[in-house]
Amino acid sequence: MSSLIPTLFMLGIFIFIISKVIKMFGTIKNFTKGKTIDDYKSTHPDCAAEEGKILCFKCKANNIWLKEVGKTPSSLLHSHVCRQCGTELYRSVITI
Ligand SMILES: [Zn+2]
Repeated sequence: MSSLIPTLFMLGIFIFIISKVIKMFGTIKNFTKGKTIDDYKSTHPDCAAEEGKILCFKCKANNIWLKEVGKTPSSLLHSHVCRQCGTELYRSVITI
């Protein structure tokens, strides 16, 4: 009986860590859901006509600002924003 308590304690810690990891991946998935660069290109094909050159769908500027909007222990969450009109164009996640 005395060895059962540490075992349950370790199991509780394990379940806690696993739930945190699952929650973190859910956050990353929801952050980019429908807002990746591929989603942007398919939604606005005229704004991604040239390879490597993305234009803002509102003002057609190609000056895009990479704004860090969040952080997890293993990744950085970025929003790509038009510098001219301030519209968020797409989102990305960089693993660190
Ligand atoms: Zn713009």
